[in-house]
Amino acid sequence: METPSSNRMNFSLRLCVFAATAQFIFQGSAPAKAQLPERPDPSQASAVSPEPLNVSKGDSTPAPVYTGIETPAASPSAVATPPIVQPAPRKPTYNRCNVEGPFLAITFDDGPHPKNTPRLLDLLKERGVKATFYVIGQNVVQYPDIARRIVEEGHEIGNHSYTHPALPKLSPARFAEEITKSNDAIQQATGVLPTTMRPPYGAINAAITKRLNEEFQLPVILWSVDPLDWKIRKASHVSNHILQNSNAGAIVLAHDIHPSTIDAMPAAIDGLLAKGFQFVTVSELIAMDRPEVQGFPVAPSIPAVSPSPSITPATH
Ligand code: ZN
Repeated sequence: METPSSNRMNFSLRLCVFAATAQFIFQGSAPAKAQLPERPDPSQASAVSPEPLNVSKGDSTPAPVYTGIETPAASPSAVATPPIVQPAPRKPTYNRCNVEGPFLAITFDDGPHPKNTPRLLDLLKERGVKATFYVIGQNVVQYPDIARRIVEEGHEIGNHSYTHPALPKLSPARFAEEITKSNDAIQQATGVLPTTMRPPYGAINAAITKRLNEEFQLPVILWSVDPLDWKIRKASHVSNHILQNSNAGAIVLAHDIHPSTIDAMPAAIDGLLAKGFQFVTVSELIAMDRPEVQGFPVAPSIPAVSPSPSITPATH
């Protein structure tokens, strides 16, 4: 039987544990053990026009890295025990991942480009940032040295077809040719065989997704943040959109064939780094993917800067 005195003691103990836990979280010392649940199965999302996932408005002020609610506690009995976290089963399609820490992936499509890709590689190198390049096979044949540099500098290189057609419009044989020729060109230039694929225009269907996964072992990688950089050739728009819409687990779409996109990258990347995000490749992000946990406390995506995300004005 608990006395009022022991109740007070228990309460004090819980307060201490809570304080220690909060301090651990806000020091941002290590990725927390909790989930950052976001949205349902990404494979169910629209292939062509995924919606932005994070409507909270960011700012340039570095904020404490808030990575979760539950952390290892001094007393397991005083704090809710986090669920056992297992990797999510590999999915056929991703447009984002459910990750425990402040990780995201930025991707660049349609290169290699003789001028813009090297310029991008320079600024990624200066910042120690890793990206994923979805290259077009025929461009790799034209610029094999740049493709090789992408791999040598630690970036991921992925298949984006050989000639950039809309895959659903192709015959089964032509579809296979697009994938195989691009894989061969990439392997010839870099010695590396791609392990992920981005369909041109995000155009995909069930049959193609099945073949890519089962015949070519290539999961389909879409995106969750789209600055429309191919259409709006303005660096400030591109960097602002990326900064305001990226969250943990995001896959950011961009194109390294446009000078305005490269111009946008210093502000976009430095801004995300200042917010505490860490860039990983798509394959690394997929490896971090965790199942959604129902009924468990939901942590906000980092950084929690806006008390009223629903009133965020449109950015363009
Ligand atoms: Zn493309």
